[in-house]
Parts: sequence; structure tokens; C-alpha cells
Amino acid sequence: MTDLADSHAVIECYFEAVREHYLPHFDRVRQTKLFVAPCTKELCVRDTDRHYAGCSLDGKSIVCAPEMADLDYHHVIGILFHEFGHSVDYLYPGEFTLGPERSARRRLREDVSDTQWIRWQKQWDKRDADVIEFTADAIASGVAGAPIVYGGPCLLQNFRTGEARPHGLR
Ligand SMILES: [Zn+2]
Repeated sequence: MTDLADSHAVIECYFEAVREHYLPHFDRVRQTKLFVAPCTKELCVRDTDRHYAGCSLDGKSIVCAPEMADLDYHHVIGILFHEFGHSVDYLYPGEFTLGPERSARRRLREDVSDTQWIRWQKQWDKRDADVIEFTADAIASGVAGAPIVYGGPCLLQNFRTGEARPHGLR
């Protein structure tokens, strides 16, 4: 698919379908916007074979490469569930932490003292890349009600065949 508008139209259908799953749990994803953008010098989400999308650090933008429109739809859904997982993590800053077995645990501002909340925020800001990725998957798996897995030669997200995200995968 070479036409950018066509790619956008295809990806947008999946994007809205995945958002519908998240909305009953996380209403802030109403703010999340889709951008379908070919690589430029300033921004490129398609910098390796297995990269098709990314989420901004404020959680409000999910950027997809137009090439995503040509992927098997199981992967498109898996990738978007994962990116919405990042979006939720960033739209609710500091609320999500990894529990046992890489599950997502949510902690609420009103449940703790200011001191405790500030401590948690600092820890949350300093999370390493694996923890951030596992948290996105944990949120996605919770919303989908099924574990997100990585499969195929490029280890792409999906809900059908593969394994939990390997440590160090970028
Ligand atoms: Zn990710």
C-alpha cells in the first residue's frame, strides 16, 4: 500500500477498534491521537525491521509507520494494544507498577500520602526500558483479557502465537 491516505484509513479502523476496548477502563485514552507518518529526519518509528509504531511520552500520540497497514491484522491489533498500553501508562503517570509475573498493578493518588506519592513518582520516572515495555504489555493483556505475545521472524506483538516479550527486546 503506497498511498498514505489509504494506509491511514486502514490503520485508523484498527486504532479505533482497540481504543473501544480501552475506553471503559481508561477514559483518558479519548485524548490519544493517531498519526500515520513516513520516516523523516526528525521522527522515524520504522527505524528497525520490527518497529512499526511508538507512543509519545505524554501518552497522547501514537505514531504508526504507513507500512503497518500491510501487516497481518493480528500483528496490527497486537501492536496497537501494546501502544495503547504505553498511552495509558503515560496518561496516568505513576499509577502503574509491575506486580508478580509481570502483572500490572494500579495504585491511586488518593490512597497514599504526598510523601509516598512523590517517592513513587520518582521511581516511576526512573524505570528501565524493559520495565516500561513489560508494563505496556501488562496493561494491554489486562484490557484484552488475554496475554500479548511476540511471534514471527520479527517478534511482533499479537494475541495468537509466540512468547512473552523477551528481556532486552528493542
Ligand atoms: Zn513498547
